[in-house]
Amino acid sequence: MQRAAPQEFDRVLSSMCTRPHPAARKAAERFFATNPGDPATYQAVAALEEDALSYLGDITGLSAPHGYVTSGGTEANIQAIRAARNHARDDDPNVVAPESIHFSFQKAADVLDVELRIVPVDDDYRANVAAVREAVDERTVLVAGVAGTTEFGRVDPIPELTAVAHDAGALMHVDAAWGGFVLPFTDHEWSFAHAPVDSMTIDPHKYGQAVVPAGGLLFRDKSVVDSLAVDTPYLESASQASLTGTRSGAGVASAAAAMRELWPDGYRDVYERQQANADWLYDELRARGYDAVEPELPLVAASVPDGQFESLRDLGWRISRTASGELRIVCMPHVSRESLRAFLSDLDDLRSGPARN
Ligand SMILES: *Cc1c(COP(=O)(O)O)cnc(C)c1O
Repeated sequence: MQRAAPQEFDRVLSSMCTRPHPAARKAAERFFATNPGDPATYQAVAALEEDALSYLGDITGLSAPHGYVTSGGTEANIQAIRAARNHARDDDPNVVAPESIHFSFQKAADVLDVELRIVPVDDDYRANVAAVREAVDERTVLVAGVAGTTEFGRVDPIPELTAVAHDAGALMHVDAAWGGFVLPFTDHEWSFAHAPVDSMTIDPHKYGQAVVPAGGLLFRDKSVVDSLAVDTPYLESASQASLTGTRSGAGVASAAAAMRELWPDGYRDVYERQQANADWLYDELRARGYDAVEPELPLVAASVPDGQFESLRDLGWRISRTASGELRIVCMPHVSRESLRAFLSDLDDLRSGPARN
């Protein structure tokens, strides 16, 4: 029997994950038999988690970050809501978020039994601040905004949303799972430095070029993360704030290694190259008459007819769509101009050949 091989990355155009940096891969291999969930026993990886946290603080503008390396953005978002709920001690809490919020919020609301109030976005796919203000009330424990939306790469008005949250007595969470490693090189106001944001999700296993699983959850205030802690009788360490128990030392070590290697210059180079790729692809699609959404971050969405979309998938392009049907191309670090040219060339062949529908 042939050994299974993972996919090549040449034709992967819609994933939010990427090829890990060689330093991240090496660190993952060295540390895979460790458990950062038990830091008193596995002290070396626990020290690396402190390093990772401190890099994440530098990247997001927080000088004394509290938090940990999660299994991904989903766990980080669940935990941000759980922390806000525990902190507020409300027995009928709600969370207010724009419709562009990641589907992990649906899971979080379900497992935590918290009401999720979804409000509309504006014409440019950003949270509508007035709608958020209208939706919050005295039982709102958290307002969430997205810095780099999954579908269109948009950044919500974080300072304005933070003011609305705090006026309502709620905490403010920013989901920068995907955007967190490119936003430092833009003019967007998204971080702990731009507003008194309370918590943030930022995933090293996406643009951070760490191996999966490596997400990140950061808090400004220690008392909020402390509201997550439970006692841990059988471990050497006395309490635990993470959702999972045993955790991936490979993820933690690789996150620390990737950030040591790439922050800030390596990440800046990738951002500049991929933003240029996204801008180029947007122009090329528009020149062919496609309705495309201008890329604010390295992500291009465009309306492509179903027949063409399906034919591209048949040709091996790994592509997906937004809920409203647009093709989305995510310019992750592995996406090259050459591969985008090959993609457009296949699209051109489909356009000139016999139509499928
Ligand atoms: C990817 C993503 C998530 C979920 O992260 P996982 O690591 O897949 O669990 C949450 N929010 C946003 C904005 C994302 O892009």
